Amino acid sequence: MTTQEMKVAFEQAYGQKAEKVFFAPGRVNLIGEHTDYNGGCVFPCALSFGAWLLLAKNNDKVLRFRSLNMPQVYEIPIDAIKPQPDRAWCNYALGCIDIIVRRHPEAKLTSGYDILYFGNVPAGAGLSSSAAMEVVTARAFTEEMADLTPSLSQGEGAKFPFGYDEKAYRTELALIGQACEHEYAGVMCGVMDQFASAQGKKDHAIYLNCDTLEFEHVPVKLEGIKVVISNTHSPHHLDSGAYNDRVRQCHTAVEQISKVKPIKFLAELTPEDWEQVEGAITDPIAKKRARHVVGEVARTAAAVEALKKGEIAYFGELMTASHVSLRDDYEVTGKELDSLAAAAWQVEGVLGSRMTGGGFGGCTVSLVKDEAIEEFKRFVGAEYEKATGLKADFYVAEIGDGVMRLE
Ligand code: ADP
Ligand code: MG
Repeated sequence: MTTQEMKVAFEQAYGQKAEKVFFAPGRVNLIGEHTDYNGGCVFPCALSFGAWLLLAKNNDKVLRFRSLNMPQVYEIPIDAIKPQPDRAWCNYALGCIDIIVRRHPEAKLTSGYDILYFGNVPAGAGLSSSAAMEVVTARAFTEEMADLTPSLSQGEGAKFPFGYDEKAYRTELALIGQACEHEYAGVMCGVMDQFASAQGKKDHAIYLNCDTLEFEHVPVKLEGIKVVISNTHSPHHLDSGAYNDRVRQCHTAVEQISKVKPIKFLAELTPEDWEQVEGAITDPIAKKRARHVVGEVARTAAAVEALKKGEIAYFGELMTASHVSLRDDYEVTGKELDSLAAAAWQVEGVLGSRMTGGGFGGCTVSLVKDEAIEEFKRFVGAEYEKATGLKADFYVAEIGDGVMRLE
């Protein structure tokens, strides 16, 4: 769908023209899985698909929410912003507006708005349609509520709300989105998804420390190679129970290791340290979980170095090793992700393939030579259907920019 078509849909829905159009991307994590809450780094990039938001002020002191992806329509008075019943999609939008006011007392919501969303991230596939929606809302409403006049917020001489420079502003948008996800969606996620959506840069990945929020944009130069995302379309997902178990097991490992070497996070350990301390972990499950984290932190650092040196084949090997570790030690893959990855590894021209996101369902990410892409889709699709009875979908990813105002 083009922005022109979205503008037509807006006018049909609301009987007035959209005043502004914003966009925020979904993301895919290339490597660094389940490292974020262990003080480690992740390496995501923003995608060229995401969520659009169109808005215009109204005279009714209400927020009207519509989405071209959802049948439900919501109308919330501007002085009655609070979490709506579970599963109401407008929570992802309302929460951001609420949190802007709470983090920035100078922000004022003085007018009602007519608001329309459109998203083309496959929902629930682990590519963060929710983060895209949060970040695009945070972007639009920080600008509206800071009342920048004239409201320039990109390009030369740009001004940003609340006195931020661009980098700090984008980080703030990520933090608003994350707080919304915690408080209005009830998902205690790390900051990676919203951060990638806010700070993304075309043809770059983001080497991010989720604890300190320090980050670096690293160019992704893949001559003749594409990032291919394969969607399991599996109904399984990493539920909060399995997620919280992993968090607890890592915590147990930190406690037991700290008897011989005091640490705050598993990510502080190098593979050499691991040899020295692993004997201190008496719980066998905690030991496996910790081994994944220590290995994954080292692999992520090595992958970033490999990419900088143009050693793409090695980068691919590290992706595959990441999957094996998530399968055997962290135990968050499952039949669907394992069969997609195993089929991909057999295709000539695949440099590496791994699960991405929390696990169990969702997507894999693979590096595939241009000339092998058709065979990849055919063979992996057929093998996957044989193993699971499900049909996979494939997207050749383009690495895009972070959140922006389009019009
Ligand atoms: P994901 O992995 O895609 O982030 P989530 O379950 O976290 O999956 O978020 C999906 C939810 O986000 C949807 O069920 C819906 O409530 C909301 N959402 C995402 N995109 C849109 C959209 N374009 N319009 C309305 N709601 C959306
Ligand atoms: Mg989500």
